[in-house]
Amino acid sequence: MENNIEMFKNKIRRIPDWPKKGIIFLDITPLLNDEKCFQEIINILYERYKDKKINKVVGIESRGFIIGSALAYKLSAGFVPIRKFGKLPWKKITEEYELEYGKDKIEMHKDAISENDNVILIDDLIATGGTAKAAANLIKKLGGKIIECCFLIELKSLSGRKVLEENGYKVFSLIQE
Ligand code: AMP
Repeated sequence: MENNIEMFKNKIRRIPDWPKKGIIFLDITPLLNDEKCFQEIINILYERYKDKKINKVVGIESRGFIIGSALAYKLSAGFVPIRKFGKLPWKKITEEYELEYGKDKIEMHKDAISENDNVILIDDLIATGGTAKAAANLIKKLGGKIIECCFLIELKSLSGRKVLEENGYKVFSLIQE
């Protein structure tokens, strides 16, 4: 596992000043591109959740879709997309959250989660935790039970974990930076 984490870290491409000045963007496309890494990541997450009776994996647009759908398939669970505002075609619920400058909104279909579904929420990366908290609120609104919020990468200095834990959610990250 330790060796694998090092291997994963080495496959993350760091792009300074993208999408804007001062941000170091962590690009996971080389990690997904590597067949051994991609398979190993899904296997590790599968081992973590296989006995938790998970019936829904909820992925946050867009990189959460990639990891989330592979994990859902392996867990024999359903997959639910949380999308940015205005993208989903049917009846939906919406949650607004703060960004560094301004606000944003995410949405989920109203029938995507049922009362007492056992849910894993997944995204590629947690920074401030604002996106994940809004996503978790959507799941909670529909009565889903969030077993854990799961991320490939946690940017520790931004304390997103704290935001989620203070709201009663469990957090797991594979790689800490
Ligand atoms: P936050 O709401 O601040 O936790 O931001 C998390 C969301 O923004 C996730 O969907 C990430 O994919 C994306 N994100 C934030 N910071 C970065 C970064 N440095 N590199 C790549 N993606 C990021």
